[in-house]
Amino acid sequence: MHAVEIRKRFLEYFKRNGHTIVDSAPLIPKDDPTLMFTNAGMVQFKKLFLGQEKRANNRATTSQKCLRVGGKHNDLENVGRTARHHTFFEMLGNFSFGDYFKEDAIKFCWEFLTEELKLDKERLYITIYKDDDEAGELWKKVAGVPAERIHKLGEKDNFWSMGDTGPCGPCSEVHFDQGEAVGCGPGCGIGKCDCDRYLEIWNLVFMQYDQAEDGTRTDLPRPSIDTGMGLERIAAVCQGVASNYETDLFQSIIQYTAELAGVKYRENDEIDTALQVIADHSRAIAFLIPDQVLPSNEGRGYILRRLIRRAYRFGKLMGLEGSFLWKTASRVVDDMGDHYTELQETKEFMIEVVKGEEEGFAKTLDKGLEMLEEELAGLKKAGVAIVPGKTAFKLYDTYGFPIDIVRDIAERQGMDVDEPAFEKRMQEQKSRSKAAWKGSGEKDVASTFQILLEEGITSDFSGYEKLEDQSAVTHLLDIDGNVVLSLDQGATGWLITAVTPFYGESGGQVGDVGEIAASDGRATVLDTVKPSGQLTAHKVKVVEGTVTTGAPCRLTVDRAMRLATMRNHTVTHLLHAALQKVLGDHARQAGSLVGPDRLRFDFTHIKGLTAEEVAQVEAIVNRNILDALPVDRQIMSIEDAQNKGATALFGEKYGDTVSVIEVPGVSMELCGGTHLDNTGIAGSFIITSEAGVAAGIRRIEAATGGNATRYYNERRVAVAEAGAMLKARPEELSKKVKDLQQQVKNMTKEMKALQAKLASGAGRDMLSEIEEINGVKVLAVELEAPNMGVMLEQMDALRSKIDSGVICLVAGHDGGKVSVALAVTKDLHDRFKAGDMIKPVAGKVGGGGGGRPDLARAGGSNAAGIPNALANALAKVKELVAG
Ligand SMILES: [Zn+2]
Ligand SMILES: [Zn+2]
Repeated sequence: MHAVEIRKRFLEYFKRNGHTIVDSAPLIPKDDPTLMFTNAGMVQFKKLFLGQEKRANNRATTSQKCLRVGGKHNDLENVGRTARHHTFFEMLGNFSFGDYFKEDAIKFCWEFLTEELKLDKERLYITIYKDDDEAGELWKKVAGVPAERIHKLGEKDNFWSMGDTGPCGPCSEVHFDQGEAVGCGPGCGIGKCDCDRYLEIWNLVFMQYDQAEDGTRTDLPRPSIDTGMGLERIAAVCQGVASNYETDLFQSIIQYTAELAGVKYRENDEIDTALQVIADHSRAIAFLIPDQVLPSNEGRGYILRRLIRRAYRFGKLMGLEGSFLWKTASRVVDDMGDHYTELQETKEFMIEVVKGEEEGFAKTLDKGLEMLEEELAGLKKAGVAIVPGKTAFKLYDTYGFPIDIVRDIAERQGMDVDEPAFEKRMQEQKSRSKAAWKGSGEKDVASTFQILLEEGITSDFSGYEKLEDQSAVTHLLDIDGNVVLSLDQGATGWLITAVTPFYGESGGQVGDVGEIAASDGRATVLDTVKPSGQLTAHKVKVVEGTVTTGAPCRLTVDRAMRLATMRNHTVTHLLHAALQKVLGDHARQAGSLVGPDRLRFDFTHIKGLTAEEVAQVEAIVNRNILDALPVDRQIMSIEDAQNKGATALFGEKYGDTVSVIEVPGVSMELCGGTHLDNTGIAGSFIITSEAGVAAGIRRIEAATGGNATRYYNERRVAVAEAGAMLKARPEELSKKVKDLQQQVKNMTKEMKALQAKLASGAGRDMLSEIEEINGVKVLAVELEAPNMGVMLEQMDALRSKIDSGVICLVAGHDGGKVSVALAVTKDLHDRFKAGDMIKPVAGKVGGGGGGRPDLARAGGSNAAGIPNALANALAKVKELVAG
């Protein structure tokens, strides 16, 4: 029986028995910040078990996606090496919230296993809690299990509690006997050994007590049922295989990976481990990313990074080339996307994220491995069997090696890693970065707020309806957080009132500013904060008189600022909806900042937006604004909100009742912020920038209302200025600039040609052309020079290199012009003078000239025959020297 079939039969069986099929909760627990990942079916029902929430149907059944990393038996190093350790798994469960209890739970369990799955009754064993005789009797009565197959176990194995206090109760487990061959020999038995013979397949928890802080247990008024059966395990039992990895759930990925790597499963232990690691991790990766976990250096993101990097390295060990994990994770999506549709919706995004992470790691993997191998060799030589924490930390810090990889490699060579020392270095690094945050002084104020909250001090928020309200000053704090009775003119501090229309910074929306006028003084509100949902505090500067505790006051929010903020906030919701429409469902909010002057929105998406996508998003949002749609705010239970399909923000914690902001037909979000009544008031919307901020996260900055107009105006002025400079109308600007660019290009080309010409002249070794005539050194040459100036520079250079001699340079130019320069060194002045010699020479080029004894110049024009004229001139110089 395929695993998919087992899952389907389970859910349908319990549906037939009055249960509601509830979707799996995300891997990130919504209501429980203490939990890293959802690790059991009951996590999403905690409030129901605690009686804090009610549902129409008190029976539910789920197939819950779960993730376990860490813990005693689930260190990553075991995953892939054993038959049943996994990071990701599915937990089948049925739940009764004060409805049926032990008898029905046992009946359902037995019926499903023996009649739906047709497991052999003779191979099923039961364990119960040692004091729970009631359960033992029921197993005999309802299921007909003989007494010798019912075993009593202690608190450690068969008693469950939610925490130190709260619901708890005995449990009962069903074990499946895999046969003697699987056993560990004499002494093998339920609760006696750790081997796989009696495989635990289903755990039934009977929540019947409420545990108080002192450890006493009282009966719960409405006892409940929570059960869990791992799909991978029950699939292995039904398919008659010894390892979960041999079930169809894993084989599809394993066979595919083996094909990619050109290897075979079950031929070599090391290859099997690698294939199993990749299969397990691919499942976790394929499920984590749709639940908005992205690779990072801390928290959940770091778990994902470790999984990707560990799997990647095992792939390399098998000889897989390039990035491959995105392929194996895609296979998971193809296999499981029918039931978990979120996998399909975000497949492309998932692929991009995994590929990016693989490529990033590939760059450092080889170098890191090399360093590690060297280090290990050195340690071995020195007879040390422990890799120092320092080395593990360096690999982590420099090459991005998670500790798991170091451990995997070290263990293959029979070595340990000094993990406490590694952890210590990690802590040191953390406290270093923490220290950088210190000194802001905000800490003291925060602790005073905390004390006020513990004393039950609250303030009501009236700012959804009003921007002005009356109240009284209940508490004043000075800037350091000390409670004071009054604040004098000029003082800055914190002011708390019983009621306030000021919105305290939260949910990405900045705090309001404005004014508070008390009976004996007046203060400007610089900012407003919300230390908790129930308490708002105004940061004030007293500008007139004295503000005293107990004084009645009038609170006035700066209307223009608040309105500008609301424009940005409402449009943020429109933008979120438009992005999902244009880019796909994966484009979800990852953060936002909404103030009066700006709107910043971070969302999950890999590539930069094209100009076309930006234009599409802008067009949709502006259409929503022009349509002047109503914006409704409703208070409802979180369950109703989710049933209505409201978007809840990732990582946000919500109370029992939530505020839902709806723009009918466009957007529905859980949001406590303040909003416009109508989208039309936003005026207009323009995206001012779009850029990446982290792997898989893009950021849009945008403007609305007056800010958008200002933005347009600034650009209009800039265009007008450019137009004036270029003497062009706006629509001609680009053509004009293109023409200018072409001109610059042409000129650059000419300049380069010219420079090359000059360089060739400079490179010529003219000194080698010196002749000796009549005992005098003579250099008479033609060269390329655009004008006399350039030629004289050449002359200077030559003169500095000659002690004694006569130099004559000639050059012809376009249009028949000719230049002549003549120099004579001082020691020859009694025989030759440049000024005298130049005349007959100039005559040869049809011109005249003159100059001093040391340097003379002449210009001529002989369009008819420049080459001849130049030769004649040079001959004349030599003739003059020869006498
Ligand atoms: Zn055993
Ligand atoms: Zn919002």
